[in-house]
Amino acid sequence: MHRTLADDLSRLPALLQSARDFAAGEVTGLDNRPVVHLDKAPDPEPLPAEGAGAEGALARFAERWAPGFSGSAGARYLGFVTGGATPASLTGDWLTSTFDQNASGSGGSSATALERETLGWLRELFGLSEAHSGAFVTGATVSNTVGLAIAREWVGERRGVCVSREGAATLGPVDVLSGSPHSSVAKALSVLGIGRDRLRTVPVLSGNREAVDVEQLAAALEALDGGPAIVVANAGTVNTVDFDDLRAIAALKERYDFWLHVDAAFGAFAALSPTYAHLAEGLDAADSVCVDLHKWLNVPYDAAVQFTRRQDLQIRVFHNASPYLRLPTADPDFLHLTPENSQRLRALPAWFSLAAYGSAGHREIVERNVALARRLGERIAGTGQLRLLAPVRLNVVCFTLADEPTQERVNAVARAVAASGEAFVTPTVYDGTQGLRAAFSNWRTSEVDTDRVFDALLTAAASVS
Ligand SMILES: *Cc1c(COP(=O)(O)O)cnc(C)c1O
Repeated sequence: MHRTLADDLSRLPALLQSARDFAAGEVTGLDNRPVVHLDKAPDPEPLPAEGAGAEGALARFAERWAPGFSGSAGARYLGFVTGGATPASLTGDWLTSTFDQNASGSGGSSATALERETLGWLRELFGLSEAHSGAFVTGATVSNTVGLAIAREWVGERRGVCVSREGAATLGPVDVLSGSPHSSVAKALSVLGIGRDRLRTVPVLSGNREAVDVEQLAAALEALDGGPAIVVANAGTVNTVDFDDLRAIAALKERYDFWLHVDAAFGAFAALSPTYAHLAEGLDAADSVCVDLHKWLNVPYDAAVQFTRRQDLQIRVFHNASPYLRLPTADPDFLHLTPENSQRLRALPAWFSLAAYGSAGHREIVERNVALARRLGERIAGTGQLRLLAPVRLNVVCFTLADEPTQERVNAVARAVAASGEAFVTPTVYDGTQGLRAAFSNWRTSEVDTDRVFDALLTAAASVS
């Protein structure tokens, strides 16, 4: 054994203690550091021939790299839809690496059974029935890709071809219909050989909405002359967190032949609160469902789940077995369900957070985030310098400058907010207007934080006028 490695092995508990001390300083200091860092990152250094040992590496990381990392795990990073990591999920994440299990199959470990228990908990949390089976993936983009891969196999089944064996070329053009799809849906269609251009957007409801007009969707399906088609419904759009009417869309299945995929990346969390659960009603009727966990469940990157009612088709697409072996049927190993073969025990951080706080604890995070988004929305509506672009429907505030919201001026506000170190919001375009988004999905965020964000926004808006 290399002597530095041998030395580290002999001092392993002490090394872990150093890492613990460093991590504790980071998580407790999160509130007092700038939310983002805009300084130039260090230049790359040559590969060391002789390493510095774990303690030396930690010292170099702490000096060269950590100061430039963002406070995205903290309370006032409201860009994109960014969750943090609850104390229990962080514990689970550390132990994921400690045990270093391969969750591809059982392999002499109960780890995959823990993964199944967690999937059952998540299914219940989102109001899905046992007809849905689940699998962990790295993020909502992959979850959407897996769901749409199963959809593609289903379209093949309807057309009398087996896409997983004969190839996407045998399928012919596929119609994919959606109101306000997330960009990852187009990416998934590109990966799957269906093609980005096959995604057709259906008009949304009038009156400042992003939800699909179900009558227009019915008309588009009617025009397909019998289908089969793929419908991507959206439960929580990124700009204004609007929800398609999932029950009405599912009811169209009586008349038209389509696969219903629901992108509920963070909208599925509405189901945790009796006040907002109606928004996600009908989710169970989907053929495939995408939910992110590193957003609103507040587990570390990278974690998402994929649910489907057609695990048989999923296995056809993703199985990784010798053709001479019997294909898995009941409780297949996870390597047969997603693009990953070997995989970390992605369930453990989620398991820890659910075991620690239960559905009630996670419901509180969701409800508090929504209340804070409303609070910021009300404060924005009450000032002359900013205006809301849409009502605050759930946890995202979409707003812009009251006067002259040009791309240049709006981006200047975003930059000024970031430079203040107080908060981070991201630019967007909503209904043709340049705007900004503040997405509340971190378990730490408080009213005091929200008021600090508002003050930073006002100061930034004043600086560009
Ligand atoms: C964030 C998001 C995605 C993509 O999620 P990743 O985890 O970044 O891959 C897809 N759909 C919606 C609605 C999202 O909010």
